[in-house]
Amino acid sequence: MNKVSAGVALVTGASSGIGYATAAALLQAGYRVYGTSRRTPAAGPAGVAMRTADVRDDASVARLIGDVLAEAGRIDLLVNNAGIGVTGGAEESSVAQAQALFDVNVFGPMRVIRAALPAMRQQGAGRIVNISSILGVIPAPYNAIYAASKHAIEGYSESLDHELRGFGIRVVLIEPAYTSTGFDAHGMTPDQPLAIYDEVRAQAERLMQRGVTAGDAPEIVAQTVLKAARAATPKLRYT
Ligand code: NDP
Repeated sequence: MNKVSAGVALVTGASSGIGYATAAALLQAGYRVYGTSRRTPAAGPAGVAMRTADVRDDASVARLIGDVLAEAGRIDLLVNNAGIGVTGGAEESSVAQAQALFDVNVFGPMRVIRAALPAMRQQGAGRIVNISSILGVIPAPYNAIYAASKHAIEGYSESLDHELRGFGIRVVLIEPAYTSTGFDAHGMTPDQPLAIYDEVRAQAERLMQRGVTAGDAPEIVAQTVLKAARAATPKLRYT
């Protein structure tokens, strides 16, 4: 059974990578933790109450928040982590593909926040942690669509932080650098691949195989989330 001393936390995308490590770290820190995956059954760290939910789906998100509130009565910490990437030249992805990526990375957090806010406002306290990326601050070539999605969540979060302070709710951005997770394998591949980018792809593949791009462990990002969750006066950005 979860401990309840630190409050109730909800982490989207807790089946893998940063979300998994964050859910585990929050549990360890004494939160009662709910996590999500699109899969049924939803699997995550032992002790985390996993729920099946898709952040692209209004009804699914409404069900998720309704379930957590019915069971736990409140949400003290909401971690919007679920996200996907696409690597490739800008004209290799259709606008429809960019929209599909934004549907997860930008409109996903918006859906979850909209659903959770009435209860959080009523509580008069709470923290929202949005997992952005270093590419939300420093755009990089062959990542234009992903970088745009993370810049969007940066602007949304900063605006929201000002909007919600008066209600005792703070919004925080986490901006991880490359982190060793299944992110690359789980991401989209360009739906209109062009031969001129074949060498870019081959190079990325070679770097990955040689471990040159091996980044930090997701547990390090999880500790940053925990720090942001616990800070009496949080910063807006944690890089
Ligand atoms: P993973 O692919 O390991 O994990 C992604 C998680 O998101 C999974 O639990 C997956 O759950 C969930 N997810 C994906 N799509 C949806 C959806 N539509 N609805 C609900 N859940 C979904 O990636 P990471 O842990 O690396 O990424 C987590 C976050 O960190 C993302 O926002 C990413 O942009 C960000 N980030 C990652 C970096 C990295 O280098 N890895 C660097 C900077 C930021 P399931 O498949 O079970 O549904």
